[in-house]
Amino acid sequence: MKNGKKPIGPNTYLVHNIYKQQYNHGFINPSVFRGSTVLFPDAETMATEKQRYTYGTHGTPTTDALCNAIDLLEGAAKTVLVPSGLAAATVALLSTLRTGDHLLIVDSVYYPTRRFADRMLKNMGVDVEYYAPETNRDIEKLFRHNTKVIFTESPASNTFEVQDIPAISAAARKISAIVIMDNTWATPLYFRPLEHGVDISIHAATKYPSGHSDVLLGTISATKKYAKLIDDAHRFLGMSVNGDDAYLILRGLRTMRVRLEHQQKTALALARWLEGQQQIDHVLYPALKSNSSYKLWKRDFNGAAAIFSIVLKTGGRHEAHTFLNNLKLFGLGYSWGGFESLAVHANLADRTISRVNYRGPVLRLQIGLEDFDDLKTDLSNALAAIS
Ligand SMILES: *Cc1c(COP(=O)(O)O)cnc(C)c1O
Repeated sequence: MKNGKKPIGPNTYLVHNIYKQQYNHGFINPSVFRGSTVLFPDAETMATEKQRYTYGTHGTPTTDALCNAIDLLEGAAKTVLVPSGLAAATVALLSTLRTGDHLLIVDSVYYPTRRFADRMLKNMGVDVEYYAPETNRDIEKLFRHNTKVIFTESPASNTFEVQDIPAISAAARKISAIVIMDNTWATPLYFRPLEHGVDISIHAATKYPSGHSDVLLGTISATKKYAKLIDDAHRFLGMSVNGDDAYLILRGLRTMRVRLEHQQKTALALARWLEGQQQIDHVLYPALKSNSSYKLWKRDFNGAAAIFSIVLKTGGRHEAHTFLNNLKLFGLGYSWGGFESLAVHANLADRTISRVNYRGPVLRLQIGLEDFDDLKTDLSNALAAIS
């Protein structure tokens, strides 16, 4: 991150650089604009649409402030906002694919993205194929004459294998295929996909950028080459978000780094402690030295999100439910990136290529902002209940 020629620290960057104070008479935050109609001063301006804002679906100063912030964080030429993280995946795919194209998706993808590909893209005549998360440079072997898009998500949903994104991007470049990456886990603070050869980076801003479990929003950011493609798709599909939601994400971004750092620290300490517990077979978290993805993660990422999974030594659904039901601080709920800790029994049944026979159930833990000792006690009690 640079300020003119001199690099500035990421905290300074988040406070001062993520958007300009151009909208608001000196107030340091942008206003929340709500609106559909925008008036034109005269018929000539209306006929030529020669003014910055023309209609609510085409953006407001508030949504622009967020787009600019994400552009800066991602190093993107263009960012568009959509109503959810899932919409970021579907709009990115719809903007790039046509009937007859071949799409490669990582088998460990966020399940709703997979469902969209299987239930809608296939009906539209897209040839959908899944690849194992450890494929990396061998992705080339899966290329066909009509391979158009590679959709990656790294690390994997629920099992957190890290992929070699530079190798996948380099391979894709040779056949002019487009690489789309769901970068929700790392956020642009811990991984910048466009710097590693990715063409389009998407996020569920619902997670860490929001940080408070009170808003749904997705972002799609592209290099210059694909800026028009995503901008057009966004407009043609009628995707827009309101000023209130955009404002909440802007507000969340200010503190994202301190939240991430704090949550990561607690998560790593808990993951290390969990590794040594007798009921646990292993912990799926690339920030642990014992993890098979550790080297790749260390090479490419600047940090780890505070979400990982534990694999129990034995048992099935009954043990998983006993563990969950004995948690008092960890809530049972979907999503992550917020201030509160959450747990869920991971369902890996949708995978077709990368089925792993884990010894016991896989439980995903999102670590929030609570105190370490309290979370440890909670997990300790839940583990005791299954032994
Ligand atoms: C949560 C999530 C999404 C979807 O985000 P929503 O805003 O909940 O629709 C997409 N991708 C990943 C990796 C996610 O974790």
